[in-house]
Amino acid sequence: MTTFQELGVREDLLRAIAELGYESPMPIQEKVIPHLLNEDSDVVGLAQTGTGKTAAFGLPTLQRVDTTSKATQAIILDPTRELCMQTCNDLNDYAKYIDGLRILPVYGGSSIEVQIRALRKGVQIIVATPGRLLDLIKRGEVNLENVNTVILDEADEMLNMGFVDDINNILEHVPENRKMLMFSATMPPEIAGIAKNYMHNPQEYVIGTRNEGSANVRHIYYMVRANDKYLALKRICDYLPRVYGIIFCRTRASAQEIATNLMEDGYDADALHGDLSQAQRDAVMKKFRERNLQLLVATDVAARGLDVDDLTHIISYSLPDDNAVYNHRSGRTGRAGKTGVSIAIIHSRERNKLRDIEKHIGKEFERCEVPKPNAIIEKQLFNLADRLENVEVKEDDIAEYMPQVLKKLSWLDSEDLLKRMLSLEFNRLLEYYQDAPELDYVPEKEKAKKREKVKYDKSRNDHDKDCRTAEPGYERVFINAGKADGFFAPTLIELLNKNTHGERVDLGRIDLLTNYSLFDVKEGDAKRVVKALKNADFFGKRIYAEVASLDKNYADETEGTELKLNRKDRRRMQFGAKERHSGRRSSRKEFRDERDERRTRRDNERGFKKGGEKRGKKERHGNFDKFKKKK
Ligand code: AMP
Repeated sequence: MTTFQELGVREDLLRAIAELGYESPMPIQEKVIPHLLNEDSDVVGLAQTGTGKTAAFGLPTLQRVDTTSKATQAIILDPTRELCMQTCNDLNDYAKYIDGLRILPVYGGSSIEVQIRALRKGVQIIVATPGRLLDLIKRGEVNLENVNTVILDEADEMLNMGFVDDINNILEHVPENRKMLMFSATMPPEIAGIAKNYMHNPQEYVIGTRNEGSANVRHIYYMVRANDKYLALKRICDYLPRVYGIIFCRTRASAQEIATNLMEDGYDADALHGDLSQAQRDAVMKKFRERNLQLLVATDVAARGLDVDDLTHIISYSLPDDNAVYNHRSGRTGRAGKTGVSIAIIHSRERNKLRDIEKHIGKEFERCEVPKPNAIIEKQLFNLADRLENVEVKEDDIAEYMPQVLKKLSWLDSEDLLKRMLSLEFNRLLEYYQDAPELDYVPEKEKAKKREKVKYDKSRNDHDKDCRTAEPGYERVFINAGKADGFFAPTLIELLNKNTHGERVDLGRIDLLTNYSLFDVKEGDAKRVVKALKNADFFGKRIYAEVASLDKNYADETEGTELKLNRKDRRRMQFGAKERHSGRRSSRKEFRDERDERRTRRDNERGFKKGGEKRGKKERHGNFDKFKKKK
């Protein structure tokens, strides 16, 4: 395994990163660090937050600084103030053992005078947002003459924020012989244009999709009507009582609106977007980082500066236009070996967009049903029970109040007490979810299909139930032969005739299923019939019968066809086995058998030997036996 040392990282930097716990370089670092230290050409890195890119450009940038000079030698451009701060903090961590090095973040929205004063003291590395840096250059407060390293971090985001002209303008001020490195998650034409115009023979490094986490992320979606999105969001949040996540919105206005609504509805949520003042943004991020806030409703840009590793969920309240942005979002969960879920709430017209994203991330979204009220309530109750179990009881502090409370509640037993406690929390939820509608969007066509299926399932269920239930006055018998065996009503009758030895059997309803059948016999007859059929032979299949049980899931087999006995069959059975031959023939073969039997009887009666051969044949089939016995 390669080491940072082998990549050429200097001793003082090695010491600092070892303290940070960096044991071996991440893939982007393996590629970019030696390149920046040793090669002349520039670098384009297609990589996202979380891939380790800050150290990839930060370590060699620090190493290239000459601390004996106070001139500005490196500029790093970031799209937001938060990213500036974050990059600056990381660089300061790496530079812990470098003496005489000054790194300054400069960004819009805070006092330019303070920044100017700091700049005048001499700063070797400036980490800046493009607008503010350009302003300072124009004021003559920043001199780029000695710059030897230029880093454009999150270039596509800077483009989204309208900084392209500023960047081009800044790059006009830096010397020709500087090294330039650009990181971007995507490569829109304007960014490719910057690379083409300002970079020397750039070498491109692509570092897959985000980090170790992506494999641990499950992508799911809920489809609802556009008007129901907010309701669906609330249900999802209710279903996830321990959620710690970011809800992404496309615009600042919608982020604010959703956050306000959630707060008004009692959720632990807040907004993060560019319309907030810097102080407000700082406060919200701090709260979120410290886990004093469960849900952050943010725009993509505002959330970029926030590096939190243990988010449980990412919720896309609206899908981003750029598929790569979805990658950014989902890559924020499932980090550091943990699993995460990336949820998209979409309406029907966004299905194609979802397919596009699937192609981009190389994974399929699972469609899930919006959590149902009873599932939500169960989850919440369980969570509360869990909290009750785990709450820290400050015995000493609470002791002095216990006697009065115990006295007041002494008339309640422990179950009552618990019920009341839970009701305190749950009455609101129960009321809210009473008569709550289904939110899943089902297109009309699918709805019709679903209705059909419900009808079919219902009739099947009824039928399955019927299959095992005898009609009044009858008992049910199960037999292990069905339609797949060529077993039909006449065959059953024949089999009964053959095996009940002339005793009358009154048959009722017959249900033929694929692999077995169930039929009704007059009450009190079932055991006799079962016994008679035991080990009977049906074309080589050994028959097994039993009195049907309601507990057995015969219906698990396959779909069945209920057969009411037709007139012909009924007539045949009315006479029972004894009188079988006076019934009507059901086949040519039967006709021939009957004819032969009649002839034989006649011959016997007349003492004729004619037809004996045929008779012999018949005997082997057994029918004649019965006839003889009967006689
Ligand atoms: P970045 O993509 O620069 O935001 O880095 C993502 C995270 O990975 C940060 O928390 C870094 O501190 C951490 N990191 C960067 N390089 C390494 C490394 N070689 N080993 C362990 N962690 C690292």
